[in-house]
Amino acid sequence: MLTVNAYAAPSATEPLVKTTIERRDVGAHDVLIEIRYAGICHSDIHTVRGEWGAIAYPQVVGHEIVGVVTEVGTDVSKHKVGDRVGVGCMVNSCRECENCLAGEENYCLNGNTGTYTAVDRDGTITQGGYSTHIVVDEDFVLRVPESIPYEAAAPLLCAGITTYSPLAHWNAGPGKRVAVVGIGGLGHMAVKIAHAMGAEVTVLSQSLSKKGDGLRLGADHYYATSDRETFSTLKNSFDLIINTVSAQIDINAYLKLLRLDGTLVNVGAPPEPLPIKVFTLFGNRRTFAGSSIGGIRETQEMLDFCAEHGIAPEVELIDADHINEAYERVLNSDVRYRFVIDIVSMR
Ligand code: NAP
Ligand code: ZN
Ligand code: ZN
Repeated sequence: MLTVNAYAAPSATEPLVKTTIERRDVGAHDVLIEIRYAGICHSDIHTVRGEWGAIAYPQVVGHEIVGVVTEVGTDVSKHKVGDRVGVGCMVNSCRECENCLAGEENYCLNGNTGTYTAVDRDGTITQGGYSTHIVVDEDFVLRVPESIPYEAAAPLLCAGITTYSPLAHWNAGPGKRVAVVGIGGLGHMAVKIAHAMGAEVTVLSQSLSKKGDGLRLGADHYYATSDRETFSTLKNSFDLIINTVSAQIDINAYLKLLRLDGTLVNVGAPPEPLPIKVFTLFGNRRTFAGSSIGGIRETQEMLDFCAEHGIAPEVELIDADHINEAYERVLNSDVRYRFVIDIVSMR
């Protein structure tokens, strides 16, 4: 066992505090990673605050992890000491079900092992990346291309793949009109990736305060959803809408922005249900869909795509003692566009 520094939530209502946790010994198929940077995903906040259901405390979250390999197990062949690697939202899956066999471990029929709050193969509860080290099975460790700046790479492991996967699945590309709802961690990546794929991109944000940024990130158009005119102007416009909003919104108003055979993919995960009127779906033969992160193969594909297209998240680097403050700013939609913890500050 390795005792390592970490930041954990002691309960649903208290701030995160510095602590130590145990990492398992490096098994034959495991990789020990010295974590350098960890992104703050809104899912971390939903989780520690118990918004998606009760969890066990203390809990370390964080599933946007990059670092360097410092030890490998005897049977490891994919990674070696010194490699720059990443870990996202999963650290294992059953590897036997039809979805795992199809390379979609994120949809493992037996439930993938999440990077945090999941029951690990040794019966312990997995602890995430707000920590100096992590031990992960080599099959769930990604190669992070050298051309992606180190501190900017971490958010790709969740925000990047969560937006890349539906954009690729629903064929965002030349001639397709794509709207991105909410321009936070996921949303700003959706804009960059959809633009790189060649789609015509529209941002739908609560206000016009980030318009300059949105256009610079690659959007062609930018509208404020606080302005009701937006919904009449853009009626029947989009082939694909990616909703990244972390809270409940009037989903029917957004569905009406889809043109014939358009699809709205919800990746935002508010704790409350989103009530849909079926008649909204009847019009234009619309589809309402969901999407959850992406498989390991696709995550590697996304990292390579971002390297090839020179895409990296825009991040605000913070020391570990600013995590709680960063949480408040995320909750106030005051993130530009992902907080990343410099893990050196946790040593
Ligand atoms: P984030 O950085 O906080 O971004 C969410 C954005 O949504 C905000 O920046 C804001 O954008 C908009 N927003 C927030 N509250 C709103 C409200 N009340 N009404 C309208 N718009 C609002 O969060 P994130 O890390 O990108 O995560 C977004 C959501 O995706 C979270 O619920 C998270 O749990 C979920 N998620 C899902 C997956 C998956 O696999 N499906 C993976 C990762 C995260 P504007 O200021 O531009 O309006
Ligand atoms: Zn996430
Ligand atoms: Zn499976």
